[in-house]
Amino acid sequence: MSESSSKGIKESLWDPVAGFGVTFRTMFKKVVTEQYPFEKLPTAPRFHGRHQLNRWPDGLEKCIGCELCAWACPADAIYVEGASNSDAPDADGNSQRFSPGERYGAVYQINYLRCILCGLCIEACPTRALTMTNEYELADNNRADLIYEKSDLLAPLLPGMEEPPHAMRLGDDEGDYYRGNYSARATDPAVVGGEAQAQEQWTSASEKEA
Ligand code: SF4
Ligand code: SF4
Repeated sequence: MSESSSKGIKESLWDPVAGFGVTFRTMFKKVVTEQYPFEKLPTAPRFHGRHQLNRWPDGLEKCIGCELCAWACPADAIYVEGASNSDAPDADGNSQRFSPGERYGAVYQINYLRCILCGLCIEACPTRALTMTNEYELADNNRADLIYEKSDLLAPLLPGMEEPPHAMRLGDDEGDYYRGNYSARATDPAVVGGEAQAQEQWTSASEKEA
């Protein structure tokens, strides 16, 4: 038998059997297919998903509008405009304080058409204002809705938190906030309590681990 005819027999008889052998073996292996979107499985705990702008336990914002996250971003996906806090009431008598200290993030946008979820921005943030959640469903059918505004990114108000603007409830200055010295003004568990306190403890523990 010539070499070419033996090669032809192998291709026509043996190779299909070998191919179906792979299929047959796979039938008895554990199924790894995920039935997304009908079944949503939890991500790895450190999965990089949608960003979140965090709050202090009294509801004030942690962002100080410094723009370090925007400068660190390799995709130019973040836009920040800072503004000054003030303890003087405005014309309606309302507080103009959104964060402890001098400045806060007045405008904050992340463009998820550009973001590659690399996490460099959260490494750059000096106040742990910016972190990433595990939320990964960021698809949409138009460009405008993929530019997330500050209101889309701010952490929800937990029990014990108050919507800014308002005065500093936890200390006399921003140093009390950054040192966790909340006894200066607030010892009432209704002010620093419940889930808000748990969130603060979790953030402090994460910073010590880092
Ligand atoms: S995760 Fe990366 S690409 Fe996305 S905004 Fe942050 S630094 Fe920019
Ligand atoms: S999120 Fe952090 S790095 Fe970005 S502007 Fe706010 S404080 Fe600065």
